[in-house]
Amino acid sequence: MNDQKKLTTASGIPYYHHEDTQSIGPRGPLLLQDFILHEKMAHFNRERIPERIVHAKGSAAYGTFTVTHDISRYTKAKLFSEIGKQTRIILRMSTVGGEKGSADTERDPRGFALKFYTEDGNWDLVGNNTPVFFIKDGKKFSDFIHTQKRDPYTNCKSATMVWDFFSHNPESLHQVLFLMSDRGTPYGYRHMHGYGSHTYSMINAKNERAFVKFHFRTVQGIKNFTAGEALQMKGEDPDFAQRDLLSSIDQGDFPKWILKIQVMTEEQANHHSFNPFDLTKVWSQKEFPLIEVGQLELNENPSNYFAEVEQLAFAPAHIVDGIGHSPDKMLQARILSYPDAQRYRLGVNYEQIPVNRCPYLVNNYERDGRMRVDGNGYEQPNYYPNSFDTTKPDETYIRPSEVLENHIADWYDRNGPGENEHFFQPGTFYRDVLSVEEKRSLEANIIDSMSGITGPKREEIINRQLCHFFRADMALGIAIAKGLDIKVDMQQH
Ligand code: NDP
Repeated sequence: MNDQKKLTTASGIPYYHHEDTQSIGPRGPLLLQDFILHEKMAHFNRERIPERIVHAKGSAAYGTFTVTHDISRYTKAKLFSEIGKQTRIILRMSTVGGEKGSADTERDPRGFALKFYTEDGNWDLVGNNTPVFFIKDGKKFSDFIHTQKRDPYTNCKSATMVWDFFSHNPESLHQVLFLMSDRGTPYGYRHMHGYGSHTYSMINAKNERAFVKFHFRTVQGIKNFTAGEALQMKGEDPDFAQRDLLSSIDQGDFPKWILKIQVMTEEQANHHSFNPFDLTKVWSQKEFPLIEVGQLELNENPSNYFAEVEQLAFAPAHIVDGIGHSPDKMLQARILSYPDAQRYRLGVNYEQIPVNRCPYLVNNYERDGRMRVDGNGYEQPNYYPNSFDTTKPDETYIRPSEVLENHIADWYDRNGPGENEHFFQPGTFYRDVLSVEEKRSLEANIIDSMSGITGPKREEIINRQLCHFFRADMALGIAIAKGLDIKVDMQQH
């Protein structure tokens, strides 16, 4: 009896009639004064917040990152300072194109977004389960995503839009091949790798900079659905990945990933055979071998989905001392776009929501705004410099300078080395990385998807895309053309 809780309104007023509204007589009209009815209905009407435009459907869990290898020669970031050091994290994995209610087994890249709650502030590493992306300039992003969403007339997904975009943007080919392989339909979230995808930088105690790529290798092993299995699971359990992650953690079977990095010196970056900041290309692991750093383990489910997953907000802008950005154009665009999206979705004070809040010191002169819930700086001055508080910017956090001398323009460096070469790495992927069975399912998945192209531009779109496949690998082009019943004049290729 003692632990029984009284029912109260949002303002804490205990009340009894939760299911019956005040009315004039048992059958009469309702009274305006029953504010509890209004409160319940008004709150319900406002339960939804804007859905993320991309990565709307996702799952997250808390865990621990443990350093197993010393990388202090590359970074002074405190979370990497000593072997054995542990940092609390939250990882959200997601599909990209579907709405919040879409199926977890859709063919799509998967988001792999990490928040490290470090003593130097929260570090968000917001990547995918692929090391590359469809485009390399953020100005194309909204056009690209429109093609992955619904057709403005039919309100249905459209293979025509998808392949029209891919065929007009040959730099997408590398990611298209990853997407169309069986890794485009991973078996839940535990059996896939994660990648920071972009190039970042690391800065060591001597303020020397090196560029890095982050790789999270699944300890559970790679496991994928075939296209047929993914389709079947879409009907059987559209929340397969959520259920799989949640139940494995509930059962104490904690998923793990090994963090490895690739490192490129500034000197190597200046002389690399192609732009190393191009998100449509990888750094060969033979040239830039993986260096082991630590282990990520997920070991705690959020206790409330909306509070801790829907309101979870990442921003690649958030890097900590010892880690830096790079001139990757997509990354640069995301530095601006992600905090902007969170301010729209959750409000200007979104970083005060408990799951987003830095557990260590937060101290600045930002004040007010909707849903300010942290005391708003209390009686402390709201301007800097001032004669009253003891806040002083710490010069140990001065960022090393970078030298940049060039012309300002809306650059597409068509003649830059490798800049217009979109086919070498996809060709290598097809020829040297995929097994024979993986090649066959890649081809079948592409043929199945491209068969959905309809309308008067069908032939034009298919032909344009076929040229890209041929340029990557002759056998790939022939296989797709054959599957689509298109006669190829080999003289032309
Ligand atoms: P490596 O042979 O050193 O590495 C090949 C990489 O491909 C490994 O990371 C491997 O990871 C991954 N891989 C294997 N099968 C698949 C698959 N079906 N789908 C996606 N990735 C797969 O070669 P290079 O580093 O020189 O790269 C060669 C090609 O490999 C690249 O052109 C690129 O297409 C692809 N690749 C490269 C990556 C990189 O960061 N360099 C990362 C992923 C792919 P696993 O251990 O899981 O098999």
